[in-house]
Formats: sequence, C-alpha cells, structure tokens
Amino acid sequence: MRLKGKVAVITGGAGGIGLATVRKFVAEGAQVVVADIDLARAEAVVAELDAAGHAGATAAAQVDVSVLAEVEAMVARAVQVFGRLDVIFNNAGIAGGKPLLEHDPDVDYAPMIRVDQDGVYHGILAAGRQFRNQGTPGVIISTSSIYGEQAAELAFSYSAAKAAVISFTRSAAYELAEFGIRVVAITPGRVGTPMIRQFSEELKSTFAAEQLRNKLTEPEEIANVVAFLASDEANVINGTVVHVDDGYSVFKQRLDLPVF
Ligand code: NAD
Repeated sequence: MRLKGKVAVITGGAGGIGLATVRKFVAEGAQVVVADIDLARAEAVVAELDAAGHAGATAAAQVDVSVLAEVEAMVARAVQVFGRLDVIFNNAGIAGGKPLLEHDPDVDYAPMIRVDQDGVYHGILAAGRQFRNQGTPGVIISTSSIYGEQAAELAFSYSAAKAAVISFTRSAAYELAEFGIRVVAITPGRVGTPMIRQFSEELKSTFAAEQLRNKLTEPEEIANVVAFLASDEANVINGTVVHVDDGYSVFKQRLDLPVF
C-alpha cells in the first residue's frame, strides 16, 4: 500500500497504460480521478473498481487535455471529490503519422502537438499550481516515448511532441523543486495496448523483436514502474527520463550474424 492516502489524477485513464495504472494505484491505496476524453469508458472503469471492492476510490472526469480550462477543471474535480492532489500522471496521447512531405499541417501536425505536447504542458501547469497553492509536495509523471529520443518512420510530429515532454520534465523539475514538486518522464517501448494492437500479427512480431525479451510489454508492467515513481520510495528520481522500454533503446536489431 505504498500510495495510501495519496490522491492522483491519471489522464487517458480509460484505456491502455492509463487504465492499468488506475488499477495499480487503487491496489496501492490511492484515490484516483480517471480522466479521459471518453467519459463513458472512464465511468465504466469506476464501476469496475467499485464492484471489485474499491467503492469510492475512483471518480470519473471528462477531459480533453489539449484544452487548459478542461485540465484545470479536472484538477479541481480531484480536489472537490478527494480534498487534495498529490500526483498527476500526464499520460493521454494519440499516435499516427504520414510521410513528412505529404503532411497537411492542420491534420498531421497540429492535432498531435495539441494533445501529446500541449496536453502535458497543461497538466504540469494545472497540477503544479494546485501543489503550490496546497503548500504540499507533489509528483508529476508524464508519458513520453522511445520516439521522443530517436527518429522513426511516420513519426515526425509524434517524435517532436514526445521530445518536448522530456524537455518539459527537465525544465519543470528545475523550476518547481522549490515547491517540493518532483517531475519525471517515462519512455515506453512497444506496449500491448489498443494503440499497438491495431496492427497486423506480422508487424506486432516485428515490434516484439525490437525488445530484449522479444515480446510486447504489458501495460501492467509500465503501471508498476509508475506506481513506484509516484511513491516516496522514488524521492531521488527527479527531472530525468526513466526508460521502460525492455531494452529497445540499447540495441538496434537482431542481425543473426554468423560467428566470425
Ligand atoms: P491508448 O490509445 O490505449 O490509450 C490512450 C487513452 O487516452 C485513451 O483512453 C483515449 O481515450 C485517451 N485520450 C486520447 N486523446 C485524449 C485527449 N485529448 N484528452 C484526454 N484523453 C485522451 O494508448 P496507450 O498505448 O495506453 O498510450 C498511453 C500513452 O503512452 C500515450 O501518451 C502514448 O503516446 C504513450 N506510448 C505508448 C506506447 C505503446 O506502445 N502503446 C509506446 C510509447 C508511448
């Protein structure tokens, strides 16, 4: 129960990594606002946890993280329902892409930047202000990606947004340390969520082979790390990127080289 007494907001909490993290946080004793653009699915998560013996531990909130006023309202809902805020997990994101020279900026650049980049900025602002006003420490964890640190096919806008998340993390940790606020980014590799499961079996096998265990990461495995980072046990991790990529970033590909 290492998150007992803590109140958290998790964006993108109705699916994939966010949902696994909601379940993990509740199991560790936290109270959680399940925030998602899809309110019906967020409410279904609350109903699931209520029925599973965690009645009242979660509340749903509809949010489009690309709109600051909605992110502020989401934080206000945590305070209204649970009385305070201790942790925000800025995790909501969208993927997709086209070859760079075929971009229509209004379709292939701006929406990605608004959700994956501005959404995290908004979360840092709204939660940071809440922590400062409460006069308590707080933890801000944001989901970047391996693509935030490298070039990849069809990923021009996504990589830019995810790189910004890493930069935000460093700068915010530096600026907010005086308020006792800790800021961390995670970089998942290939995680078996709807974002990845939409692809063919062949492509999923290729994705799996990019990781050292030769399989897709389970969302629950990411959630375990996020719960640790949110806990006081991780007090010394601040301003840095925690790679949760099963080694993706440390090797290029399996070459099947002959012995020589
Ligand atoms: P997912 O599609 O399963 O879940 C994303 C959730 O975010 C959904 O519930 C969706 O409704 C919500 N969402 C989308 N736009 C939103 C908005 N504007 N406001 C609020 N909520 C919104 O995806 P996932 O794989 O769980 O991804 C979670 C995060 O992890 C994303 O930031 C993604 O970029 C990142 N990531 C995923 C992988 C992977 O392999 N799956 C790898 C690296 C990084």
